[in-house]
Amino acid sequence: MQHQYHIIIIGGGAAGFFTAINIKEKNPTLSVAILEKSEKVLSKVRISGGGRCNVTNNCPDAQLFLKHYPRGEKELRGPFQRFGNKETVQWFVQRGVPLKAQDDGRFFPVSNQSESIIQCFLDKALQLNIPIFTGQSVLNFRKNEAHLWEITTPQNTIVSENLVLTTGSNTKIWNLLEKLGHTLVTPTPSLFSFNIPDLKLQEMMGIAWPVSVKIKDESLQSEGNMLITHWGLSGPAILKLSAWGSKILAEKQYHFNLEVNWIPKLPYEEVLKDLNQNRIRFPKRSILKNPHFGFTHRLWEYLVTKAGIQEKVNYAEISKTLLQNLARQLHQTTYEVNGKSTFKDEFVTAGGVDLKEVNFKTMESKHFPGLYFAGEVLDIDAITGGFNFQNAWTGGWIISEAFKP
Ligand SMILES: Cc1cc2nc3c(=O)[nH]c(=O)nc-3n(C[C@H](O)[C@H](O)[C@H](O)COP(=O)(O)OP(=O)(O)OC[C@H]3O[C@@H](n4cnc5c(N)ncnc54)[C@H](O)[C@@H]3O)c2cc1C
Repeated sequence: MQHQYHIIIIGGGAAGFFTAINIKEKNPTLSVAILEKSEKVLSKVRISGGGRCNVTNNCPDAQLFLKHYPRGEKELRGPFQRFGNKETVQWFVQRGVPLKAQDDGRFFPVSNQSESIIQCFLDKALQLNIPIFTGQSVLNFRKNEAHLWEITTPQNTIVSENLVLTTGSNTKIWNLLEKLGHTLVTPTPSLFSFNIPDLKLQEMMGIAWPVSVKIKDESLQSEGNMLITHWGLSGPAILKLSAWGSKILAEKQYHFNLEVNWIPKLPYEEVLKDLNQNRIRFPKRSILKNPHFGFTHRLWEYLVTKAGIQEKVNYAEISKTLLQNLARQLHQTTYEVNGKSTFKDEFVTAGGVDLKEVNFKTMESKHFPGLYFAGEVLDIDAITGGFNFQNAWTGGWIISEAFKP
């Protein structure tokens, strides 16, 4: 290992590789190296998107794209204008990795393999002569007397003119930054599912349904598909809520009441009116056995039973109170959430380097010249759909622009 570089990048993940490759492509004369603590690089890319790597999102509207970032929306506006989703797709296509967008907007490699992204990065790093030092857990970094960054690993001390931190949600690096004088926003998990110890609900596992969900007594709400799992609730609607509610739900220690609206398109009064009309339309029909509002048999029976309606009760016989109960149940089932889980989903950490202390034209620290950040090390995170990687790509590309000859 050479001991002085123009640029040392700590962290061999998505942001680290993207930064290194873009810098060297633009300025091959610079010496750039990556230090990675584990023996393997790009581990999260490998497992991302269920092994397919959801690289970015097709969302065509710039304003709407930014709305997917609970933290970072304002700061990423400028950077995305310079290197956004279109540029990302082009970047990969030009380097031999064609991407395809699914109907839901998520971009994946045409190969459906995250390995295509990894191979592209490794090939490029080799071609561009970017050394990758694995097993190098950075223990400390500081500016020395010669105003160079001195980086310490258990095996080496390396000196560099510039330092790029792409260490994701690594606590050790955040602590070092805090010691150095940067402000850290306390990390909290994001993109998790909710544990609900309710056996009757868990028996419904596998059902996905479009709902709106709300945290009781808070202004936190989201819409989309909700998936019933064997431990509670997941799916896009829940993950979105976990992202927007990352801080508040952490404060509540993941104990709160969740309200689920199973018919978000219809107001409560309409639901009740429609059920009341069934008294005339289908007086002899068993309520339990005849799904209404497009519900499946299983889900309808679950909700009707939850409203306290017995199997034999028909529309002619049902009391006004019970019918109101049913309308309320369809409109607002309350669940007691008790803890959180991550399962297969992409999970990220909210919190990190305070965005006020970063210049988003270069991704450089406002406090320490020559110190740069990209990816999850910053207090930026997004909901699922390829938006988290987009943050890593954009940050890396912006840094590389700062090193153009
Ligand atoms: C299961 C899963 C699936 C996901 N799927 C997707 C997806 O499909 N699409 C999407 O957009 N997002 C996805 N994400 C989120 C995405 O993976 C992250 O947002 C992204 O990896 C962040 O990139 P990064 O380079 O900032 O950090 P990381 O990828 O976490 O890389 C940081 C690197 O720094 C290294 N490092 C840390 N500390 C040190 C140290 N002290 N010294 C040296 N090296 C160090 C780490 O070992 C790591 O290799 C997923 C996340 C998970 C967990």
